[in-house]
Amino acid sequence: MSLVPMKQVLNEAAKGDYGVGAYNVNNMEQIQGIMKAASETSSPVIIQASRGALKYTNMVYIKYLAAAAVEDNPDIPIVLHLDHGNSLETCKQAIELGFTSVMMDGSLKEDSKTPTTFDENVEVTRSVVEYAHKFGVSVEGELGTLGGIEDGVGSGEVKLTDPDAAVEFIKLTGVDALALAIGTSHGAYKFKAKPTLALDIINEVVKRIPEVPLVMHGSSSVPPELIEVINNYGGKLEKTMGVPMESIKEAIKRGIRKINVDTDGRLAMTGAVRKYLSEHLDAFDPRSYFGAAREAVYQTVKEKMIGFGTAGHAGDYKPLTIEDMKAVYK
Ligand SMILES: [Zn+2]
Repeated sequence: MSLVPMKQVLNEAAKGDYGVGAYNVNNMEQIQGIMKAASETSSPVIIQASRGALKYTNMVYIKYLAAAAVEDNPDIPIVLHLDHGNSLETCKQAIELGFTSVMMDGSLKEDSKTPTTFDENVEVTRSVVEYAHKFGVSVEGELGTLGGIEDGVGSGEVKLTDPDAAVEFIKLTGVDALALAIGTSHGAYKFKAKPTLALDIINEVVKRIPEVPLVMHGSSSVPPELIEVINNYGGKLEKTMGVPMESIKEAIKRGIRKINVDTDGRLAMTGAVRKYLSEHLDAFDPRSYFGAAREAVYQTVKEKMIGFGTAGHAGDYKPLTIEDMKAVYK
């Protein structure tokens, strides 16, 4: 099997009424932990790399780590997706590397901080769609802005998605998936109390354009038990709350198909490394603590695959290639 286009994976999720997690990766242990969870639960999976991840891995390592995931898991549909692309240029780079999906986050300017106008967003997103579809690569857009900042992305300003504008945006750009701002937030410090999400926005968009899958960013749950492990072993994270699994399940029911998770994987790894090193003061073999981190990622992601309803769906369909998708877009 080769890497699968995201459009197919999300369309199949819509048919089966479930969500697919998109997990951020930067190194081998994260990918292995995620793939162990996908393989064990038989889940299709989106592994995504931010611009920070491309830089950290010098691009070529991420390419071959994803290739290794494919070779090692022939029965699992795997998408390799660019998270928060900031320009046509960045998206072109990812496509050249072999990504089967890119996000053009045109809700922000190229600095990933300054909000754009609707027209600016349409223009840059449409240029990416035109380019990517020639290669059979899927495109995710974003309309509205989330709170919080992660990996240097975010204006810090919350602007919920206007459903009418979302419908217009999809028609004007031809995106394969659209990220909505419904009140979730990037990073670990999302909320002080249980958040109220504007879930009706999902229904409003789905009602009018049911064929375009919707995406939720900033959807880590920031479980207190992961924060506790970090703080119990010398860390100092402030009390915080994320998006509870029950809210995500409700969002999936209403039509969210891709759920972005970065922070929870980071917390799980950090806690595991802290715990291991605190309990083994004589340890100096990186395999011991990175192995513990890999196991923690696996546990965290496995729970999500079950919670999002992804589990059991890996064999539902025959995966397409981006070559197949070229014909579809024509
Ligand atoms: Zn995001």
